[in-house]
Amino acid sequence: MTFEARDDRYDTMHYRRAGASGLQLPALSLGLWQNFGTSRPFDVQRAIVLRAFDLGITHFDLANNYGPPPGSAEESFGRILATDLRSYRDEIIISTKAGYTMWPGPYGDWGSRKYLTASLDQSLRRLGTDYVDVFYHHRPDPSSPIGETAGALVSAIARGKSLYTGISNYDPEQTRAAHAALASLGAPPVLHQPSYSMLNRTIEHGLSEVLEELRIGGIVFSPLAQGLLTDRYLSGSAPQGSRATSSPFLHETDIDEDYLRRARALNDLAAARGQTLAQLALAWALRRPVITSAIIGASSVSQLEQNVAALTAAPLTTNELTTIDILLE
Ligand code: NDP
Repeated sequence: MTFEARDDRYDTMHYRRAGASGLQLPALSLGLWQNFGTSRPFDVQRAIVLRAFDLGITHFDLANNYGPPPGSAEESFGRILATDLRSYRDEIIISTKAGYTMWPGPYGDWGSRKYLTASLDQSLRRLGTDYVDVFYHHRPDPSSPIGETAGALVSAIARGKSLYTGISNYDPEQTRAAHAALASLGAPPVLHQPSYSMLNRTIEHGLSEVLEELRIGGIVFSPLAQGLLTDRYLSGSAPQGSRATSSPFLHETDIDEDYLRRARALNDLAAARGQTLAQLALAWALRRPVITSAIIGASSVSQLEQNVAALTAAPLTTNELTTIDILLE
């Protein structure tokens, strides 16, 4: 059946500016890292993406290696774009990245101009689009000169294959160096994509200050700590099919006593606010203006809907934030 987007899709989502740029992103973006490979039925993937768009999520975050297997998430999104979203392309922000291993040999990884240029061309073929909106360097490369990596991101813009530059997983000093290199070429990074959640607060020790100072938008990944900050594991075990049972990036051993004590206490605090734990975690991740958007994953439409409903809650009070800090100690 032909997809027709809802007329009310922009009525409730909040849009936030990415740093000093002209680009606005939805407070929640949808990431296609783990749930859009060949092991999840295409119909489920399609339903999640289309529901997201109907809820005002205009931004879809991809990378060359998302799936599994690598490349398959871009292929899936390309199918949805071709069949359902083609006429909405100008309403959509598609980001992709290169920086992790994609093919054998010295040109299939890291940050050389050779790798980044070839990888973006491959991504565009899988996505079936002429350009992506944001092309990120996915992780810092300790051996390629930052000027070369930055040059590859900027020449993608010159070739009409991307519109904005972004970086991911760069530490504060690497961020300064990348910003200087990209700015000198006329395309400062509009976004920096780090991990951030109540269970991973590393960016509070330097990076968020650098993002504020350089006016780069923070777009945080795994704000639900891959599901640990939801009710998925609160019983003390991992349901069959959950990420902790099916992905190499989360393990059943992560569901230990220390985790359960903190997660259950946070869940009680969420309930007192009339929220789920996932909704509390998202409100918390978005509480500071330096964060432009939080990229969520979802394995079902109902998870997505529950997460988007986080945006309707009252902001966290100072007392609640202090309580959270104490619970996380
Ligand atoms: P989240 O922390 O949002 O975790 C998503 C997972 O949490 C889902 O797959 C689901 O697990 C569970 N979940 C989500 N909502 C609910 C809910 N309401 N109730 C119960 N369980 C829920 O994010 P991800 O770790 O998936 O990362 C999000 C995106 O960030 C990625 O898709 C990617 O775009 C980006 N990213 C970027 C990285 C980088 O290096 N730049 C690295 C990692 C991610 P289940 O599958 O068990 O149902």
